[in-house]
Amino acid sequence: MSPLIDRHGRTKRKLRISLTDRCNFRCTYCMPEHPDWLPKSSLLDRGEVVRLAGLFVDSGIDQIRLTGGEPLLRRDLLECVREIGALRERGLRRLSMTTNASRIAPKARELVAAGIDDFNVSLDAIDPDTFRRLTLREIAPVLDGIDALTDAGANIKLNAVVIRGDNEKDIVPLLEWAMARGIPLRYIEYMPLDAPGHWKRDAVVSEADMLAAIGVSHRVEHQPRSSDPATPYLVDGHYPLGIISTVSNPFCSTCDRLRLTATGELFTCLFSPLGTPLGARMREGVSDEVLGEQVRRAVWLKDAGYAARPGPVDRPVTMHAMGG
Ligand code: SAM
Ligand code: SF4
Repeated sequence: MSPLIDRHGRTKRKLRISLTDRCNFRCTYCMPEHPDWLPKSSLLDRGEVVRLAGLFVDSGIDQIRLTGGEPLLRRDLLECVREIGALRERGLRRLSMTTNASRIAPKARELVAAGIDDFNVSLDAIDPDTFRRLTLREIAPVLDGIDALTDAGANIKLNAVVIRGDNEKDIVPLLEWAMARGIPLRYIEYMPLDAPGHWKRDAVVSEADMLAAIGVSHRVEHQPRSSDPATPYLVDGHYPLGIISTVSNPFCSTCDRLRLTATGELFTCLFSPLGTPLGARMREGVSDEVLGEQVRRAVWLKDAGYAARPGPVDRPVTMHAMGG
């Protein structure tokens, strides 16, 4: 089949699949403190997830990232990983997971053995009080999870969202903690994807501000860019740091990703006001051909992105339900 391409000439290679909107954390930048969970019956079952994932792989998607909500809350997670991993036979090259790691310790080895190639672990601060203020949860289980992944030989990266007045003072301590362990880190600018009215432009710590904070005590060199959304840097000549600057310097012109929510709604952009309800169509009994056509049409119509329409999107779907 011909690859998925949009009207701006961008070919799609990466799909993020949200396995659940549920989460055991309450990160203030991601969801309201008292979220309305999606009805359980509307969440895709494993067969439905794997069917849709296969359709995307057959259309040229070769990298899938499992996310949520918190993917570890999905009871059949290992089976999902094994069955999606079997799509390697149809062209899948990489299967990844994004997690808060707080529940991963007992499953770390099984997840690696089941076929997760790499893990992005969210860790916004190394100071326990700052971590608690941002996530409304404790840091200890997350650090245990990171240790368990390391012991299991997993390939890990850390992700940290930086918010002015919350964790900007932790930029250097977290960096030094990650450097000491040799775990690559990516800082992420705070995006307007949380509860309506919560995000403020002033709360965004820009890539330039982060570099200035790090530059006081470390040498930071810019590296050549790849297709990754993070701008790559080398700290002190050896440590890889990335910064995702969606707000101050959007990378929309090379965006190669798509997102599927836990109900099977396809969002071609993090900031799309509307999705395409593939899950609902599937439950009406439509064929793979019809679903494939709907995917192609939705991808073709993908908007230019945040760069063309900055600021919050008017829609009821916040980050935890979209799948970050
Ligand atoms: N629960 C998992 C976790 O926290 O890693 C996976 C889902 S979470 C929605 C995925 C990523 O989205 C996390 O790294 C989180 O930091 C990021 N994220 C959530 N809300 C964000 C926001 N408003 N701006 C930037 N990144 C955000
Ligand atoms: Fe949960 Fe991840 Fe959102 Fe935090 S960022 S509330 S861990 S989904």
